[in-house]
Parts: sequence; structure tokens; C-alpha cells
Amino acid sequence: MARKPLIAANWKMHKTVSEAVATVRELLDRLGGQAPADRTVLICPPFTAIAAVRDVLEGTGILWGAQNMYPRAEGAFTGEISPRMLTDLGCTHVIVGHSERRHIFGEGNQLINEKVRAAFEFDLVPILAVGEKLEHRRAGLQEAVVEEQLVKGLRGVTAEQARQLVIAYEPVWAIGTGETARPEDAQAMHAFIRRWLAGQYGEEVAQAVVIQYGGSVKPNNVDELMAQPDIDGALVGGASLKADSFARIVQFQ
Ligand code: PEP
Repeated sequence: MARKPLIAANWKMHKTVSEAVATVRELLDRLGGQAPADRTVLICPPFTAIAAVRDVLEGTGILWGAQNMYPRAEGAFTGEISPRMLTDLGCTHVIVGHSERRHIFGEGNQLINEKVRAAFEFDLVPILAVGEKLEHRRAGLQEAVVEEQLVKGLRGVTAEQARQLVIAYEPVWAIGTGETARPEDAQAMHAFIRRWLAGQYGEEVAQAVVIQYGGSVKPNNVDELMAQPDIDGALVGGASLKADSFARIVQFQ
């Protein structure tokens, strides 16, 4: 089964509303006014810019989503944003378990699992980010670390839900560092993740799940990463902030 590639921008804590609008306008210009038919393009701005980005992207086929959320519909959770608020803005996807959430904000697998399940409950596609630190890779523990993140992060997720899931493999040592995983190492981990999904949910579901690579994806390395059989897309931080470099990544060959 052919998986449609998903190229997603994670703008992190960058861009005011006017900067965000200017960037998506330029991106649209560079892409000829709409998303390419054979790939999905997703922009995850900071919360403050989602509505303005939506106003530019509506009707173009390019999707918008969020970088995080709190796993409740509403309530006394000062400072948090709910999945209901995101769907109200037309968001289709939400990034869950990004390494910056895990390591700067101390999010553990239990909270990440609640977020994954809340995303499904509110019809958002969770992009579950997993990945090992450099010390784990040096010790040969990368698969064990990722497996634990999958087991705990996907607890209670049904096969029907898993079919919709996106997983982003992002080795922590490659995020924002300019260090990219070698395409063959990334492929090996993606194949490992797909085998794990097959064991858990069956081969058909495993073949349907989009597995993105993230970690210093740039215009000059995207083509060889995307040429790997189990790499179905990219989650792009730094290189998504400029419309020209992100447009080139979207147009990978
Ligand atoms: C990310 O934020 O998910 C990411 C991969 O960042 P960068 O592309 O800057 O490494």
C-alpha cells in the first residue's frame, strides 16, 4: 500500500502573527498556490499564529496543526490549550512527545500517552515523536529506548486508531544540531518501528502508518532520506522557518 508522504513544519517558539502570515504566503507562492497532490504538507505554528495561518491556507490543500496540547477537553488548566480548541481552529494534526517537551518540560510517557489518546478522541492525528539520545545510541540502546517510547506512548491505542497514526523518529542528537542521521541508520530505525507496529497491530496497519524522520532535515539531505523505503516524510524544525528552504524540502525528489 502506498503511503502518502507527509512533510511537516514545526516552527517551535518562532514567529509573530505577521511573520507567520508572511512565511505561509511566500511558501504558497513558491508552491504555485497549493499543496502538491502527491504529498501532504502541514504547518505547525505557535498557538498564537494558528488562526492567522489558517486564514491564509484555507482552500489550498496545505494543512495546519499544533505543536502540543493538554489532554482534556476543557477545565482549570491555566496556560494550556485543549484538543477541542485545536479542532475548532481547523487543526488536523498535533505533535505529541517532541523531545523538547520530554526533556525541557519533563513530559513522561504516561502524559504523552494521554495526549495520544485525547488526540484520537477529538479527531486529531497525533504525530508521536520518539527518539534516542546520543548516549543511548553510543551504547547500542537506540532500539530499546524507542521501543519503550512506543509501548508506553501507544498504550490503549486500538488497531483502528493506529492506522491513522503518524510517528516521527527524531534522534535527539540530530535535532537542531546540523547532525543528520545517515539515511541507512534512519532507515534501519524506521524498519524497526514498522516491525514493532506489525507485531502490535498486524502487517496491514504497520504498512499504513506514516513514519517521518526528523533531525536537521535540510534541502541538501531530504532527497536521500526520502529515498529510503520506510521513510515516509519529514518533521522539519529550523529549515521550515524560511519559505524557500521549506518549499525545496516539500519538493523533494
Ligand atoms: C524538530 O523540531 O522536530 C526538528 C527536527 O528540528 P530540526 O529540523 O531543526 O532539527
